[in-house]
Amino acid sequence: MNHKKSSAFFQDAQKYLPGGVDSPVRAFKAVGGHPIFVSRGKGSKIYDEDNNEYIDYVCSWGPLILGHSHPYVMKELAKALKNGTSFGTPTVLETTLARMIISAMPSMQMIRFVNSGTEAVMSALRLARAYTKKDKIVKFAGCYHGHYDGLLARSGSGLSTLGIPDSPGVPSSIAQNTLIAQFNDMESIKKCFNDFPVDIAAVIIEPIAANMGVIHSSKDFLQSLRNLCSEFNSLLIFDEVITGFRVGYGGAQGLYNIQPDLTCLGKIIGGGLPVGAYGGRSEIMEMVAPSGKVYQAGTLSGNPLAMTAGIATLELLGHKGIYDELEKKTMAIESGLGGILPNNGINFKIVRAGSLLTIFFAKNPVMDFSSALLSDTSLFGTFFHRLLDQGIYWPPSQFEAAFVSLAHSDNDIQKTVCCISEALKSLRI
Ligand SMILES: *Cc1c(COP(=O)(O)O)cnc(C)c1O
Repeated sequence: MNHKKSSAFFQDAQKYLPGGVDSPVRAFKAVGGHPIFVSRGKGSKIYDEDNNEYIDYVCSWGPLILGHSHPYVMKELAKALKNGTSFGTPTVLETTLARMIISAMPSMQMIRFVNSGTEAVMSALRLARAYTKKDKIVKFAGCYHGHYDGLLARSGSGLSTLGIPDSPGVPSSIAQNTLIAQFNDMESIKKCFNDFPVDIAAVIIEPIAANMGVIHSSKDFLQSLRNLCSEFNSLLIFDEVITGFRVGYGGAQGLYNIQPDLTCLGKIIGGGLPVGAYGGRSEIMEMVAPSGKVYQAGTLSGNPLAMTAGIATLELLGHKGIYDELEKKTMAIESGLGGILPNNGINFKIVRAGSLLTIFFAKNPVMDFSSALLSDTSLFGTFFHRLLDQGIYWPPSQFEAAFVSLAHSDNDIQKTVCCISEALKSLRI
């Protein structure tokens, strides 16, 4: 496989873009080598500037659950494009998408659309602070909620990949208002509430973690968290930017049957265009301007093209059996690899949640951030490149989830299992 053009483009990009990219994990720092520059995607495949073909397990980091350039989404976008790109006025599309999301996740009665997951989280926290009249936020080590200042502590994939515990540039006054608890560890969260019983505005969590690799939370843990937040008059925020419409049409809150006070969404609800959203009970959401005093705005928020791609995507995801099909495809990867596990000299653990999957190069079960960090990241780097050479584009970091889409065919999956098995066997020391 030849990567001449990608290498040249990367050299050039580094002159004008910090690190040659617009988002750190894309730069392959965690796995070594140069990133591939992609020119187009179709179905389960992406094609780079050197015309190499890859089966894609990043899928734009989740939004493309239908695969690349899905014909229906493209057709709807082409129609919408004829009407213009943005108006800065209300459109019917926003109400349509809001209604679809609210009917999928009844914990939300009202929604505000923004342009990214980061913006959704940032705005939800402002709202939670205004509603509770408290300042402190609790987050869990290893959970990523975008790059909002107050949440950049111990925040999983991007930062752990680069070995940055906290970003410089975050004022200590803001960091002081962020408390860190341990995922799946009720004692650590109880300690936060014991230490600051009247100060915690909200607890934010990825109900299934997908940014320190995929890690399940136990139902008991989430339920206790729900109860604790209610007891202390703090809001529970589910960051379902990845899990929303991914682990099921009703998100993780539907799977676990637990109602958060606020939900943050992104990724899939934009169908591949930039969208985020936050929502919750009307009583809370009506505090947002202009119906209330909590200010939050956006020039391109609710953009008609983005709303159109989101609506088209959710329409298709609403069909019966879709999530079973996705799960079956992903399970086929998991079970295909099951056979080679015991005989291999390499320790690894496969964790799957619906169509999200991580292969941890770890000896012990992965329960939280500290156990995830015990993974052998240099072995992962070698593994990643063995897959890339065989035409499989796996996420370029140990701490990211692989995303399976509806466009992945049985052939794709078979080839993938084969290539992963080869790659794993070749790692045997
Ligand atoms: C991707 C992600 C975000 C941030 O979304 P952006 O659109 O990248 O700003 C927030 N939370 C979670 C759980 C995410 O996976």
